[in-house]
Amino acid sequence: MAPSLEEPTQVDLDAPLQEKPNLVAPEPEHCPGPESQQAGVADSCAGCPNQKICASAPKGPDPDIPTITSRLSSVRHKILVLSGKGGVGKSTFSTMLSHGFAADPNVTVGLMDTDICGPSIPKMMGVEDETIHVTSAGWEPVWVSDNLGVMSVQFMLPGRDDAVIWRGPKKNGLIKKFLMEVVWGDLDFLIVDTPPGTSDEHLSVNSFLKESGVSGAVLVSTPQEVSLLDVRKEIDFCRKAKIPILGIVENMSGFVCPGCKHESQIFRPSTGGARRLAEEEGIPFLGAVPLDPRIGMACDYGESFLEAYPDSPACEAIRQVVRDVGVQLGLKGESVVVEV
Ligand code: SF4
Repeated sequence: MAPSLEEPTQVDLDAPLQEKPNLVAPEPEHCPGPESQQAGVADSCAGCPNQKICASAPKGPDPDIPTITSRLSSVRHKILVLSGKGGVGKSTFSTMLSHGFAADPNVTVGLMDTDICGPSIPKMMGVEDETIHVTSAGWEPVWVSDNLGVMSVQFMLPGRDDAVIWRGPKKNGLIKKFLMEVVWGDLDFLIVDTPPGTSDEHLSVNSFLKESGVSGAVLVSTPQEVSLLDVRKEIDFCRKAKIPILGIVENMSGFVCPGCKHESQIFRPSTGGARRLAEEEGIPFLGAVPLDPRIGMACDYGESFLEAYPDSPACEAIRQVVRDVGVQLGLKGESVVVEV
């Protein structure tokens, strides 16, 4: 039997995050976090309309976090894929990163889609018609190949055109349940495709996973300043949340014509692109992945772009990014990627 969003007793989606109080106003910029020990009593809380609520709310760690941590304890490397805004190819990049690691048959890779508003991973991985199985141990991921498993909220929706149109605590409850119930087993790498930006869901995913020992975050941007602006916020967020930054990837970085191999700049890096930002921020630049129209095609057909078009310049760039992520994780770069 597959879990369904229409089974509230099983999924208990109405359960709010236990430690987050119901606020009457948005959290201001200098908020120490309504769940923190400082909530309502910090100097920066002075004058905040939520101060009374935050001060009287129960404090302490979320009691479900140890369950999430235990679920993920057999995963060696947990990698968050973050972007400041949507539309930069984060999910596409997550699938290619997963395929890149899984090219080595000796490693086992999981790809978790926590973008509950726009889950697109099942389609891109060619498993959108699959359902997940519930066992006494929990929810089993869908296996794309012998060493690559996928889990997405999409598998729990009644139809592929159905949307999750919940708000606040209900969404967070779903994300938490999702992280608590999935049985990944022994994994070498878990790639987590997170919701874009710094929305509530984004914060929930990161705070739930942070305690389980996230190896680090890969930030995805396009070369344009409008995208880099939001990546700066992500960098700030990671630093505040103490999530190690493995590096930044510049996606859609130029276009190499598959026919004549001529390269053109579609999104101009008017301020130096992600490479300059990485230098300024003192974080690793993991590489620039050029546009290739066949990437979108491979995703639409649920194929591995790396296997289907190994000669594409974008493939070589992705392989290099995978190597560099491996190096940042303390692995030997050459041993991380098996050439296809
Ligand atoms: S009272 Fe403090 S912790 Fe609560 S929302 Fe306002 S700033 Fe944040």
